[in-house]
Amino acid sequence: MKSREFVTLIKQTGKWEMIENVKNLYQTLAKREKTFCEAFDVHCKACCGSCCECFNPDITDAEATYLAYGIIKENKEEQVLAKCKDYRGKACPLYAKDIFCSLYPYRPLICRLFNCAVSNGKNGEPQFRHCKWSGEIGEIPSTELQKQRRKLVSMEEFGMRMDECNHETESTALIQDILPEKIEHLLYLCDNLKNNT
Ligand code: SF4
Ligand code: SF4
Repeated sequence: MKSREFVTLIKQTGKWEMIENVKNLYQTLAKREKTFCEAFDVHCKACCGSCCECFNPDITDAEATYLAYGIIKENKEEQVLAKCKDYRGKACPLYAKDIFCSLYPYRPLICRLFNCAVSNGKNGEPQFRHCKWSGEIGEIPSTELQKQRRKLVSMEEFGMRMDECNHETESTALIQDILPEKIEHLLYLCDNLKNNT
């Protein structure tokens, strides 16, 4: 199915609201990430991607639906389905050595939170530790974080907001297990619509 036709059809299905909600959440996160990284001088190393070499994200229904949408829109479904089927390694199945993330604009939430989000300590205090591959060392002191609390990106907050995008289930699955099913489902919905109009 051609990309433009797919986008036209998917907008008419019940999945479009979920796709839009996830996209809006990621746009909000991107703005907040920029503010946080500027305020605390946090940077990923250019062209790094080491986080994807030994990580395989466990993702929700909504994250997988948004990824599947991006994969079909970019006409990469055959390539991704083959990678999922043959998956053996410990790197993320979407990782490619030359370009790092092969679906970067559609990547899951956890990948967007790397090296920009704080988590809550045991007394609710914000905690942030630089990614070990970023070239920066250690934690930003909690007192510094608290001084600019409004500029923080919270893992807990974005995790909860992603849960709100998940209408049907809160369970998660590894990319190679969930993506084939999601890709096939979105294509099935679009084919159905096409054949009935
Ligand atoms: S989805 Fe992309 S950014 Fe996330 S771990 Fe996989 S390759 Fe890396
Ligand atoms: S989070 Fe760490 S490993 Fe991933 S791109 Fe940034 S610096 Fe590199």
